[in-house]
Amino acid sequence: MNVRAIEKAFTILFSLENGLSTDKESAKRHLTDVKQMFADQEEAEARLKKENPLIYEFYDLGMPDAPGDLAFGTSITYPGKIGDEYFMTKGHFHGILETAEVYFCFQGQGIMMMENPEGEWDFQCLAPGKAVYVPKRFAHRSINTGDTPFCTFFCFRADAGHDYKTIETKGFRKIVVDKNGEPTVVDNPRMVACGSCRLVRRIEKML
Ligand code: ZN
Repeated sequence: MNVRAIEKAFTILFSLENGLSTDKESAKRHLTDVKQMFADQEEAEARLKKENPLIYEFYDLGMPDAPGDLAFGTSITYPGKIGDEYFMTKGHFHGILETAEVYFCFQGQGIMMMENPEGEWDFQCLAPGKAVYVPKRFAHRSINTGDTPFCTFFCFRADAGHDYKTIETKGFRKIVVDKNGEPTVVDNPRMVACGSCRLVRRIEKML
């Protein structure tokens, strides 16, 4: 528990160009940190033999996690693919499942993938100016489907906490891959054995 109280207003600068702040150090996740989340493990290993790209970074400002406080920051997911699967964040549930979150996109384009413990899933396409409301109970992951950094600003209840483990071990039901140049939502082949229903829903025209 972070007990440091915030008693005064403060500001922090995030660049509208690239989402980065010069006021704080970001948390960085390279391929080596998140390689297990990609569907094509062979491709991830082959890539790691050549390089270890930065997949995403985000800011944890260490806000007090007391009821009534808010946590916020930016998340930047870089363009790229492992095999045909786009770069993405690990994704997480909130420790307190009954807490929602808002993400506002200000650069790039991408998808917010969501699913709840009951197995319902959803995704929303994001582009600059679009905000997405991630409902309570839904795990969420940012996926960059463009060729520039995908930058969002997020805000949620500071005491919500993060549960990365469930997603790390189970993955998301749906992944987003490049099919002939089009971002396409398909079943996660590591979760669903059926090969006949891979193409689930083609994303309607991107924004
Ligand atoms: Zn969250």
